[in-house]
Amino acid sequence: MTIYWERCDLCGQYRPVKKCSLIPEISIDVHCCVACPYWMNKCTVPAWRIETRSPQTPPRRSLSSEDKEKLLKELTSLLRSS
Ligand SMILES: [Zn+2]
Repeated sequence: MTIYWERCDLCGQYRPVKKCSLIPEISIDVHCCVACPYWMNKCTVPAWRIETRSPQTPPRRSLSSEDKEKLLKELTSLLRSS
């Protein structure tokens, strides 16, 4: 899917736009797409749906207590050596 940095046909602002899935003649930005009244019922596949509804955030890596201890030791040794 390509994102174009063009003028939104609804609000007129220059933003990344996508082709509206309901009216292909218009380009729509993420804000207007989300605020669109057809978003919930009429428009089943909104252009910005994937980006707005399920952001792909990688799961945070948590350190184990041993790793933390090891890291702390490394850091303190670095402080001492400097
Ligand atoms: Zn807009």
